[in-house]
Amino acid sequence: MTADKQPDYGYVAGRDECRLAPYAAREGASRGRRFKEPQPNYRGEFQRDRDRIVHSAAFRRLEYKTQVFVNHEGDMFRTRLTHSIEVAQIGRAVARVLGLNEDLTEAIALAHDLGHTPFGHAGQDALNACMKDYGGFEHNLQSLRVVDKLEERYAEFTGLNLTFESREGILKHCSTKRAKALGELGERFLAKRQPTLEAQLANVADEIAYNNHDVDDGLRSGLIGIEGLYEVPVFHEQYERVRASYPGLSQRRTTHEVVRRMINRQVTDLIEATRERLVVVGSADGEAVKRAAEPLVGFSEEMAAQNHALKHFLRHNLYQHYRVRRMSAKAGRIIKALFDVFVNDRRMLPPEAQEKLHALERKGDAAGRARAVSDYIAGMTDRYAIKEFERVFSPTHLT
Ligand code: MG
Repeated sequence: MTADKQPDYGYVAGRDECRLAPYAAREGASRGRRFKEPQPNYRGEFQRDRDRIVHSAAFRRLEYKTQVFVNHEGDMFRTRLTHSIEVAQIGRAVARVLGLNEDLTEAIALAHDLGHTPFGHAGQDALNACMKDYGGFEHNLQSLRVVDKLEERYAEFTGLNLTFESREGILKHCSTKRAKALGELGERFLAKRQPTLEAQLANVADEIAYNNHDVDDGLRSGLIGIEGLYEVPVFHEQYERVRASYPGLSQRRTTHEVVRRMINRQVTDLIEATRERLVVVGSADGEAVKRAAEPLVGFSEEMAAQNHALKHFLRHNLYQHYRVRRMSAKAGRIIKALFDVFVNDRRMLPPEAQEKLHALERKGDAAGRARAVSDYIAGMTDRYAIKEFERVFSPTHLT
């Protein structure tokens, strides 16, 4: 077959979107990028967003950032990188079934945690406390800051210059005060409108991923036990079934089988409950679903309650476990100590961070200086933050 007779199997702008549901996000209806760029040749716009995210430095650093377990505690636990891949996997699977835009869902899922500090929520709380007088720190806003301002990879613009829809999906929540300062991206919070269904989906996929992998990692670490999880209906139900079908199965395989089924049960519920809500919407377009009072992508009432019970259990038994609290306290002290030392003496920062500090300080004085230090710390991985702490504070550590 000659080249000109070769059927076009690849990407054709517009063609792939014919398969989408009427309420899915479409590139043709995109509000575009902040800096105008020519259309990509062999990819869609949301695919290009996804690719830029995957190639970013912040994305690579997710490998050494964690949520509950600090990176050096073991190679078996999830990192933010593997978590983000799980979110993208769940998101894409559901998007395909519902006729939503898979590429946009994937881009949002892969970018949603880019702004996280080292040491998970303990790190974020500590940095937020340090930034109290300078506008605070919020990982969600930081993710947006990473893709809009902090990545330096392109000749023509600062940041990744993602489409409006990817950026909107990254900014899950936002206070009214902050929304006012955000321009077009803040509009929906002020008008109390929903984001795209793809953004709603990435949000629920995030929850499914972390709740279930925290059960898995929690059991593996020994911080929580099967007996405790028995009070959680979504676990109990699947555990009983697995035990009945495979009575002699090892504990490890039983756990994996149960977690696998829990994810499947939640994803199935999410698809079915969302479908029911979307039937009501009918052939409405993406703009119409944004006017709904509540997000349309979500669990049934029954599964929402079960999910709540699972979250409640994890909050009290895993995230508040004394060993996790000790690590969180240490993490908080590391973040605070680094913040104080750099804010008080910028010359202790590496040259590149000093340059950024000067640029921000010119714009915003003390707040600019604090924001530059916050950017530097937020960008650290767990292990980099620990090393930096040693380099700065250990008398026996050279430089
Ligand atoms: Mg997440």
